[in-house]
Amino acid sequence: MRIARFSLPDTASDAGAVRFGVVEGEPDRPETMVIAELDGHPFTPNPQTTGRAWPLDDVRLLAPVLPSKIAAIGRNYAEHARELGNEVPDVPITFLKPSTSVIGPNETIAYPEISKDVHHEAELAVVIGRLCRQVPLDRAKDVILGYTCANDVTARDLQQTEKQWGRAKGFDTFCPLGPWIETEIDPADLSVTCTVNDELKQAGRTSQMIRDVAALVAHVSEAMTLLPGDVILTGTPSGVGPLHVGDTVSVTIENIGTLTNRVVSRD
Ligand code: MG
Repeated sequence: MRIARFSLPDTASDAGAVRFGVVEGEPDRPETMVIAELDGHPFTPNPQTTGRAWPLDDVRLLAPVLPSKIAAIGRNYAEHARELGNEVPDVPITFLKPSTSVIGPNETIAYPEISKDVHHEAELAVVIGRLCRQVPLDRAKDVILGYTCANDVTARDLQQTEKQWGRAKGFDTFCPLGPWIETEIDPADLSVTCTVNDELKQAGRTSQMIRDVAALVAHVSEAMTLLPGDVILTGTPSGVGPLHVGDTVSVTIENIGTLTNRVVSRD
């Protein structure tokens, strides 16, 4: 099941209201895609639809969740660690991106004036489905609602000059998520790609992760309680590189979909 968050179209009596919905149809044939409104939120065992549905083209998709926090893992693909001259860490590097960095599909990434080197990082994002802490490896799948695409946008120059990564990774708009949450895939071996202006920049597979999804859920939840809608970013494959104002950047993950955002000046 694909779960999206969207604002209701002008044709709805409550136009502009924000809802969750189930996306159905064939992504290769946009005219077949519809979104069926969910009654409430998806963090319940059997979410029900209300009976209302719209062509997907008629609604605006939003970030599929509003996480209380985004826990992100650094250097979880060996080739990416090497391309920036880093060792693979013994313990996963874990940092937080603020909730205010989240944007949805087709929203704009704002290039901040104080950076001259903003990079894309295509990543598989894990969406947590229930409150949990200290999750054992073999229970990780029970706390996951599904998976979406993420771009861990990074001001690489600030990351290198500031000891902590909070600002480099935490600018407003630096965490595009979407287009929806896929609840029925195995995350073990999915292709992850990133294009900038349709040119392929990153191409990896989740099977190249040093620590897999279950290990990351266990690792993060060992320290902090995870809430429904919280997101874990699983690291980026090699090929990261600069973004410029005017660029269009797309993250595509096999069996999930494509997340596209344009880069604009922050002013
Ligand atoms: Mg990253």
